[in-house]
Amino acid sequence: MKEAGRNRILLKLSGEALADHDHLVSHPILESIAVDIAAVMKHGTQLAMVVGGGNILRGKDAKAAGLEHSDADMMGMLATVINSLYVASVLRAHGLGVRVMSAIAMPPVCESYVVARALNYLRRGDIVIVAGGTSNPFFTTDSAAALRAIELKCDLLYKATKVDGVYDKDPMTNDDAKRYEHLSYEEVLKKDLKVMDGVAIALAREHNLPIMIGKMEGGLKNLLQDGSICTTIGKEREHD
Ligand code: UDP
Repeated sequence: MKEAGRNRILLKLSGEALADHDHLVSHPILESIAVDIAAVMKHGTQLAMVVGGGNILRGKDAKAAGLEHSDADMMGMLATVINSLYVASVLRAHGLGVRVMSAIAMPPVCESYVVARALNYLRRGDIVIVAGGTSNPFFTTDSAAALRAIELKCDLLYKATKVDGVYDKDPMTNDDAKRYEHLSYEEVLKKDLKVMDGVAIALAREHNLPIMIGKMEGGLKNLLQDGSICTTIGKEREHD
């Protein structure tokens, strides 16, 4: 089923979503992600992806260890390329067409990111993984995801997390935690909810890009079928 307004999606996967206790990248986790993505592609969805690098290196952690912040951020962006190549390889093994396009040029490794070319691949049905973040230090891959979703004219940005939405307190440790159905961009910024960084939310608000926060497992697939359990972030709703 192809729903209006959900045909081109940008999926943001954090680096941590790929890791388990023992491995920076867990192959079984990637296998399960690939199964979900293959199901989504059967709906004729055009899928762009941004994969984080936090399982390997986060700029602010390396900065705390005494590194120059911008050096650490460069390493973080390279980490996103490693993860993107890994994800692409597993997706290809599932018979999917995948292009990795890096915002940081590295010709022997992958293509450079060019918006028009990425759009062509998406229209052809290839998954486009945009690696290398924004190519600028002092940003995160949340911001890169919002930026790419806007550039590639995606209908929505789906951020896959470990839980099925945004809660008023940590649902892992609080039984009475309540999940928000919908949050306005302003609420996320005002309440300083740590669902996505502020730059990404501000960019999405500026361009009216709908965001959904939900689980990877099942969540993205359900979104295209009978609706997924997730929190939506967008304009203020009149009746909530
Ligand atoms: N990064 C950056 N500029 C960007 C995107 C990422 O400098 O445009 C660096 C930053 O150091 C960040 C790291 O790459 O901590 C990994 O990305 P991120 O923390 O967003 O990964 P995630 O938390 O999604 O796994």
